[in-house]
Amino acid sequence: MITNATTYSDVWQNCLAQIKEQTSAEEFAKWFKPIVPIGYDGKTLRLRLPSEDCVFHIERNYIPSLRPIIYEHFGNNTSLRYSVLAPEVSAEEQQRVAESSVATINKVVTQSDTTKIKNPFVIPGIRKLEIPSQLNPNYTFENFVEGECNRLVRSVGMAVGVEPGKTAYNPLYIFGDSGLGKTHLAQAIGIDIKQRHPELQVLYVSMNKFQAQYTTAVLNKEPNDFINFYQMVDVLIIDDIQELSGNKGSTQNAFFNIFNHLHLSGKQLILTSDKRPSELSDINDRLLTRFKWGLAAELTQPDYETKVKIIHNKARKLEGAENIPEEVVTYFAENINGNIREIEGALSALVANAKFLGRKITITLAKEVLKTYVKISPKEISIESIRKIVCDYFNIDEPTFDSPKRTRDIAQARQIAMYLCKQHTKSPLSAIGAAIGGKNHATVLHACKAVTNLMETDKSFLQIVEEINRRVTAK
Ligand code: ADP
Ligand code: MG
Repeated sequence: MITNATTYSDVWQNCLAQIKEQTSAEEFAKWFKPIVPIGYDGKTLRLRLPSEDCVFHIERNYIPSLRPIIYEHFGNNTSLRYSVLAPEVSAEEQQRVAESSVATINKVVTQSDTTKIKNPFVIPGIRKLEIPSQLNPNYTFENFVEGECNRLVRSVGMAVGVEPGKTAYNPLYIFGDSGLGKTHLAQAIGIDIKQRHPELQVLYVSMNKFQAQYTTAVLNKEPNDFINFYQMVDVLIIDDIQELSGNKGSTQNAFFNIFNHLHLSGKQLILTSDKRPSELSDINDRLLTRFKWGLAAELTQPDYETKVKIIHNKARKLEGAENIPEEVVTYFAENINGNIREIEGALSALVANAKFLGRKITITLAKEVLKTYVKISPKEISIESIRKIVCDYFNIDEPTFDSPKRTRDIAQARQIAMYLCKQHTKSPLSAIGAAIGGKNHATVLHACKAVTNLMETDKSFLQIVEEINRRVTAK
């Protein structure tokens, strides 16, 4: 057993001799020679390094070759602890600082905003420091219903989960409107990574919290400690990155440094935003360019079928909603817009009402609930929006739609658009005709009759019109 100072120093010299054989003279002189062993308690070897840069450099580049050497000389599972304190500070003092730093890191990530961040002298390497990931265990891939609206992001996320930092999707930038599942998905990737790679340090933080921590660190004159802490993470998930917009100067710089360091070291970054990178205002160009290095993928509004699946999925897990009648599911899917948070709200309100009023879950109750709890403001349906939806559906561009071309498909698309405009807008037929291919009111009238007739006789045509109608009336 190595216990006294002379002995562990000697043993360290033996380690150095071995390291020297494996590194170039220059590397050895620059990175290893300056290291001073300052303590060994039978489990942990404490080393003093000239600077934090050295710590990071060693951690990043040499741990795989250093580990077997240290294990061989000091015993298996020996932990490493680093210090960059001035030499005149006693070993006890260094120990105290190092220990308190560990405590602080844990505090930093478990507490909110105003926490003080200390420089962590203990770096994960041989000894892993467990950082609480701040992940919500319910936000898993399993609980995330797949649909057209999220298929790409979901499968890319799964690829990142298997090989974080090693795919082309770094950073992975997930964007989309509120309530569409950005936070859920970003966390699901984090949870997946933790399960597949327990040794990796995953950290989830919202941009607001990140900024608040940084402001506190600056007030405490410890901004470098803050940056160093984040640079130790293997997988960094930052939610709602658009919040960085309001904050020009130093937070963006700090984030830039962290981003660069992690990206360079092959660490995975996952960012979410309610805007696509090109729409982020007030964010420094050099950061914006980096956001585009990996993949920016969009979560879009769920279509009707996906909404139905999501409602079923949520209802199964919600006590009291297990036996929700199918017509209520359909009613919700048709009348709640794509915001999944609202779908969840409506379901909870439905169950709560049924329970407290002692009523059964029926379509009548569902209607009451939607009226009271979810604000469905009737959507302004315009000729313009109908035109657009019809063009999207048939994949026709608008100039072609307006052109005098009379191919059957285009003529039929125009007729459907006219029919829907008559159903949903108060515009006179002449205005509808003028806005759709420059036709007169008689053409519109004829189109409406033709569509009505065909819907009665042709079932697949009926389904097409119904689907377009659903899109027109969806919020
Ligand atoms: P965002 O961060 O985009 O505003 P969230 O991730 O917070 O949205 O999602 C809002 C709610 O909807 C969460 O409770 C989430 O679990 C749920 N949700 C979103 N997308 C899905 C999905 N595809 N399947 C199941 N639940 C979802
Ligand atoms: Mg969110």
